[in-house]
Amino acid sequence: MQAIIDFRSDTVTKPTPQMLEAMYKAKVGDDVFGEDPTVNALENLAAEMFNKEAALFCASGTMTNQIAIKAHTQPGDEVICDKLSHVYQYEGGGIAVNSGCSVRLLEGNRGRINADQVREAINPDDIHKPVSTLVSLENTANRGGGSCYNFTDFEQIKSVCLENKLKLHLDGARLFNAIVANKEPAKEYGSVFDTISICLSKGLGAPVGSVLIGSNAFIKKCKRIRKVLGGGMRQAGFLAAAGIYALENHIDRLAIDHFHARQIANALQQKDFAGTLLPVETNIIICEIKGRFTAKEFADKMKEMGILIIAISPTQVRMVLHLDITPEMVHKTIDTISQL
Ligand SMILES: *Cc1c(COP(=O)(O)O)cnc(C)c1O
Repeated sequence: MQAIIDFRSDTVTKPTPQMLEAMYKAKVGDDVFGEDPTVNALENLAAEMFNKEAALFCASGTMTNQIAIKAHTQPGDEVICDKLSHVYQYEGGGIAVNSGCSVRLLEGNRGRINADQVREAINPDDIHKPVSTLVSLENTANRGGGSCYNFTDFEQIKSVCLENKLKLHLDGARLFNAIVANKEPAKEYGSVFDTISICLSKGLGAPVGSVLIGSNAFIKKCKRIRKVLGGGMRQAGFLAAAGIYALENHIDRLAIDHFHARQIANALQQKDFAGTLLPVETNIIICEIKGRFTAKEFADKMKEMGILIIAISPTQVRMVLHLDITPEMVHKTIDTISQL
């Protein structure tokens, strides 16, 4: 049987032998007592990369985002974000459940909002209105097809936040894809955002985990919330070791995923059933399917050939490149698409 080629998400990666070796050798302790040296090392490494004071290792990106939102807000406050944001679309209504906040959804450009939109969305000091306290941005923007912000947009949004005393959070589940694609210094993100969430379990290839990065005082507050949510883990250093390995070895290679994404997107574009293709900026391809196939029929056809992709709407499919996709798999995918 031939190997399945899985483009459903960059979360499907398995640890490499070297990563498993690093996990096996990890020195561990009880992290709820703060005694796991490997978790501490991961948190220090992540904080340092962004020139921040502290960081917190969590079970998932949903957990880091939700903890950050809760720590930045009071019940009744309002969070401003793009309408396609993961924090709103894919976290089970967590902003309402965990933080008791309302959400002001903005119509962005492929998942990205701008400073003027943020300024207009901030509520006046009026007892009728929820208090606007937090802006949450996503880079890369998942439903924007892995689109990237221009760094100047962050700086402009940051000024609006400072003028109006709002905090600024970054859902950076795929932040390293943006950093690699645009050759940005990670430390500059640390100077613009109050808090940053990064995922280790996406294209970076770790089996579990996300890290929330911020100031000492903020992370201390977040640690309490993580405990309340049941997220205090014990010998988590085995997982943190995979995260350290990923941060040290799997960032630069994201450029390969981006190259593979463009190659596959080019092949798709040649086909009569391919409609609008969102610009392929990083590792995600979102393409409209029309004519001979519905999106689901196209996905089913690919599945018959051992290639897994997702129909994200009746007319769109999504493919995500990652660490476990080899050049041979990319060639086979291109051949398969060409023959359809
Ligand atoms: C995957 C993802 C997350 C976090 O997801 P988990 O599955 O909870 O780790 C957060 N934001 C974005 C944009 C994502 O793509």
